[in-house]
Amino acid sequence: MFAVETLITNAYLVLEASSEVPPDAGLEMTQVQAAHDAGREIDGGGSRSTRTRAQRRCRCGPAAAGAAHSRCAGQADHPGLINTHHHMYQNLTRAYAPAVNGSLFQWLTTLYPKWAALDQESVYFSTYIAAAELIRGGCTTSSDHMYVHPQPRLIDAQIRAVEEIGFRFMANRGSMTRSVEDGGLPPASVVQDEETILEDSERLIAAWHDPPRER
Ligand SMILES: [Zn+2]
Repeated sequence: MFAVETLITNAYLVLEASSEVPPDAGLEMTQVQAAHDAGREIDGGGSRSTRTRAQRRCRCGPAAAGAAHSRCAGQADHPGLINTHHHMYQNLTRAYAPAVNGSLFQWLTTLYPKWAALDQESVYFSTYIAAAELIRGGCTTSSDHMYVHPQPRLIDAQIRAVEEIGFRFMANRGSMTRSVEDGGLPPASVVQDEETILEDSERLIAAWHDPPRER
């Protein structure tokens, strides 16, 4: 038993077809209309036959003094979405007019010189903005593929941003080794040699990789 810190009432609860509300969910739910088929339309009639009126009460204590109470009639309470593909630093240039109507390669070659100016501050803010946008869309976890490294410690800047905003994050220390001088697309200032990439990857894993959680 533990005191409830967040109270959600009268929401549609979206669950997997066979899942149960975990007893330690930390939520007290009363008069919840549960939609047991996640992914089906809740209000379009398709799931009406599987919708059940449920009076559920988790095995947790009463609401704590000062508990947040969200009255969510007509709204859905669902697991956080997971985004598996992002390049958050590109937020900074997504409205850059000279790049928006070209082919993929035109887009890349127009923007690489801009991305060559990335530094810790710009990567911190682009990550912060991306996390805020995702949270507003119901997404609570994201990976990010950051592969442009004109300066060191850009992944560290990303991790600072997501820690500050409160967001689950799978950082990917991407890399490029071939610049225009070797037949690639990016300028030499954003690529690195193999040794630098591997050394920095090891440093990042040692500094930031979380151990597996005990269940
Ligand atoms: Zn991509």
